[in-house]
Amino acid sequence: MSAMINNHNGAAEGPSRHHPLRFGGLQHSDSMDLEDSCRELVVVHQRPMRWGPDALKDNRNNKGTAFSLRERQSLGIHGLLPPVVSTPEIQEQRALRNIRGQSNDLDRFIQLMDLQDRNEKLFYRVICNNLEEMMPIVYTPTVGLACQRYGLIYRRPRGLFITKHDKGHVADILAAWPEQNVKAIVVTDGERILGLGDLGSYGMGIPVGKLALYTAIAGVQPSQCLPIMVDVGTNNQTLLDDPLYLGLREKRDNSALYDQLIDELMQAAVARYGQNCLIQFEDFGNHNAFRFLEKYRDKYCTFNDDIQGTASVAVAGILASLKITGKKLKENTFLFQGAGEASLGIAKLLVAAMEAEGSMTSEARKRIWLIDSKGLICKGRPSGGITHHKEPFAHEHQPMDNLGQIVQDIKPTTLIGAAAIAGVFTQQIIEDMASFNEHPVIFALSNPTSKAECTAEQAYKYTKGKCVFASGSPFPAYKLPDGRVLHPGQGNNSYIFPGVALGVVLFGVRHISDDMFLQAAKCLASLVTSEHLKDGRVYPPLQQVRDVSLKLATKIAEYAYEANVASRYPQPNNIQEFVRSRMYDFTYDSFEPLFYDWPKAK
Ligand code: NAD
Repeated sequence: MSAMINNHNGAAEGPSRHHPLRFGGLQHSDSMDLEDSCRELVVVHQRPMRWGPDALKDNRNNKGTAFSLRERQSLGIHGLLPPVVSTPEIQEQRALRNIRGQSNDLDRFIQLMDLQDRNEKLFYRVICNNLEEMMPIVYTPTVGLACQRYGLIYRRPRGLFITKHDKGHVADILAAWPEQNVKAIVVTDGERILGLGDLGSYGMGIPVGKLALYTAIAGVQPSQCLPIMVDVGTNNQTLLDDPLYLGLREKRDNSALYDQLIDELMQAAVARYGQNCLIQFEDFGNHNAFRFLEKYRDKYCTFNDDIQGTASVAVAGILASLKITGKKLKENTFLFQGAGEASLGIAKLLVAAMEAEGSMTSEARKRIWLIDSKGLICKGRPSGGITHHKEPFAHEHQPMDNLGQIVQDIKPTTLIGAAAIAGVFTQQIIEDMASFNEHPVIFALSNPTSKAECTAEQAYKYTKGKCVFASGSPFPAYKLPDGRVLHPGQGNNSYIFPGVALGVVLFGVRHISDDMFLQAAKCLASLVTSEHLKDGRVYPPLQQVRDVSLKLATKIAEYAYEANVASRYPQPNNIQEFVRSRMYDFTYDSFEPLFYDWPKAK
């Protein structure tokens, strides 16, 4: 029975798909031969459809009330469901009504997670068809709250927890993960969750949420995604004192053991899933994030989204803003409030973008100023704290530490906030920006919403609608007194990381260079149309993010073949069609039995 109704999670499009014996699933295109299709089926569809009541407990294949009568009978579940056979559209409406009926976003988040546990395809249908509404629930800002309350809302495991006490046994823990063909891991140690600080083990919500976006936005198969939380303790005293805390109840370990554990994880991951397994680092503390990126970037297929993904999405927004300001990149002066992972990543990629336009490195760096917790980063700063990452941006200047005065002094064209200091872009600062720029560019990137440097409304109001605004968390559109409606851009990393990951996973990219993130930024900026700009947008609307991912993955593949770092051969004739054919599709598979006759004996 199980062979007859083997699962099919493939990349088919169209209203109904059948189990693989029929080859109804994968679209056969010129970029794939039959052998290729078969291999993909073997690789992707490992979990056979269960029989009897277990079929309803298998979230990957469960269709709930959408099981047809024949499926119910053949799977032995007839009578276990109410008699009506729902269409997926009706199921979506029902789910939406439940989610919208909740009184707050955390409860909506819980509803969505419960749905993911019951019926994965319906979960992705609801998200994909309602992206703008659902993204703030599965991702920032609600995911931040969900992490803070993780101990209370925890229902069932969704990833692997590896603690410092598991050192020497990491491979055994990976062996416990039921999926055999993992292609993408997102790992955190929970030290810097969004702008919320150290949440220890509760940081697990982030890899889970990010990987849900790998699938919802870029179509990476859910079975190929693995969230990992490395728990080496926490310095969050509130959590340590909380009897309900679910993580290691000890101070964060910063000793050599921590590094050895991460080393062991990297080795165990490639030993089990292959050298091309993508490992995304997420929400590590500043110091470790930079260290691990440098340590592993040439040895493993890895990137750090907080540094490189953020850089790419922010640079894309800045490139798009040039179409409004009419300036060249090198004619701008950038001032960053914050000099951490986000700011330094953006600053470095801006330098690379200016170099690509023909600027000298030293000239490009001079256009960029950063402020950290000790004030303006400048040569010989008496308060010190200038690490080697910040050093290139330490220019000759008198030491200053007041943001308002620094803005007046430097007169930036672009002001970027990424220090998680809420409300630091005051009315005066915003008005000053408008006094020396026709179109000041203001990016308030800190997350979640409660940490934003200013709101969209404040930015638009205080600049009389002249500014180009983007934020890390979503803000509603703003109506100007003249009736114009401006849509703030959300510099959401999900414009970049899922598409890059899809390209990397599909084409077996060995290493991910900074240049790939610059290409991704340029590709994203090129998708911003004059219509979008008229609405004040520097990113395409979020509903288009799946299409953005398709184009980004295609770009990454083209780049990877050119740079000789792709390992999928032969190269498909039509890369974009190939990518499209491989993207996860939330259309249900058919589990109706296939009847056929043998030829009559002669
Ligand atoms: P980080 O911890 O690496 O860096 C924080 C920086 O802020 C440090 O340089 C610190 O010195 C500086 N800082 C602290 N207090 C300050 C003060 N009073 N004045 C000036 N600077 C101060 O964190 P990060 O990864 O760079 O993230 C920072 C924020 O950006 C977070 O809220 C995060 O959620 C947000 N972020 C947004 C996006 C996005 O919108 N796409 C992406 C990544 C990060």
